Amino acid sequence: MKLVVRVKLLPTPIEAAALEATLHACNEAATWAASVAFETEARRPLELRKHTYAEIRVRWQLGAQAAQHASKKTCDAYTTLKANLRNGRYGRPGTKRHTRASGKPVAFRPQAAQPYDDRLLSWQHEQQTVSIWSTAGRLKGVAFTGQGGQLAVLAGHRQGESDLVCQGGKWFLIATCEIPEAAPNAHPAGFLGVDLGIVNIAATSDGARHCGRRINRKREQDRQLRSKLQKKQTKSARRRAKKYAGKEARRNKDINHKISKRIVAGAERTGRGIALEDLKGIRERARLRKPQRVKIHSWPFAQLGAFIAYKAKRAGVPAVSVDPAYTSQECSQCHHTARGNRPAQAYFACRVCGFVDHADHNASHNIAHRGWMAWVCGARSTAPELTLIA
Ligand SMILES: [Zn+2]
Repeated sequence: MKLVVRVKLLPTPIEAAALEATLHACNEAATWAASVAFETEARRPLELRKHTYAEIRVRWQLGAQAAQHASKKTCDAYTTLKANLRNGRYGRPGTKRHTRASGKPVAFRPQAAQPYDDRLLSWQHEQQTVSIWSTAGRLKGVAFTGQGGQLAVLAGHRQGESDLVCQGGKWFLIATCEIPEAAPNAHPAGFLGVDLGIVNIAATSDGARHCGRRINRKREQDRQLRSKLQKKQTKSARRRAKKYAGKEARRNKDINHKISKRIVAGAERTGRGIALEDLKGIRERARLRKPQRVKIHSWPFAQLGAFIAYKAKRAGVPAVSVDPAYTSQECSQCHHTARGNRPAQAYFACRVCGFVDHADHNASHNIAHRGWMAWVCGARSTAPELTLIA
């Protein structure tokens, strides 16, 4: 399966200036090539290269390899545009948006990502440096950093092109890695049920509750700060709001990585599969008092689901998604289902058999049970094959 690893480059100011000049030159050249492609209707790299190669090499001083990339990048952009037009992302033909998208050549931002193949970029994993082509010559020994696990994936499994991107004044390389999957466990010994919720982001049928009150309190503080900054209409307030939003998103992502890692490791160790509630409509399902609504609306459950899906796939752990309807009202012992079974948010008490449990724990047992049934019936997972780490 494919994974994407992102590492941060640590160029010196001179190297950074060279990289910036390179991105600008490549994107200007590609934008010009795009206008040529628009006029001549050349849409294939070889064809477009005939029209543009010589001039790109002279006008933007790009090397042979980089000049070729400009036409390829342009053609890729037209292919994407064509696909988007076809599947209606710009509305129906004849509408204003559609005409605007199809009626002019593609243009690239000066800082748009630039693909680098192995001839333009080489990696020295032990030294944690790269040697990268720029318009000011080859930059050697440019340091990079990343998380340990990701660097190991990168060193062992990188394949094909990497993208150079500049985000917020920082430089990154985004590399594609092809990593082997573990043989899928065809005979799971049962299913680990995961209930997603507000008070506990994820509760498992093993009794583990991931991230409760403390994180929500922090999130509430963040939200208050954000709304305070939004009310202030000054430039610095907007900048701070943006900074905090980024910080919060990174922290949430980190938490999702940790939760999904623990859940998948727990299932793998015990030879079980994972049953996760179908995330569609989780926002509508959560019926809560107003202050709590904010929390569920702003937790990236889809990201958590995607992380669980790809980590499970990598570990060979079967994952199924189940219909979560009434899992919070159903008794996991006698399956009696009634709203009255749940007298309070955190408590479950069956009206028929008297079974008492933490509400999320009870629900996760129901999800585990439904996951097992789905597995037995052969309805395998439809979880998305998402592959993003970093
Ligand atoms: Zn019961």
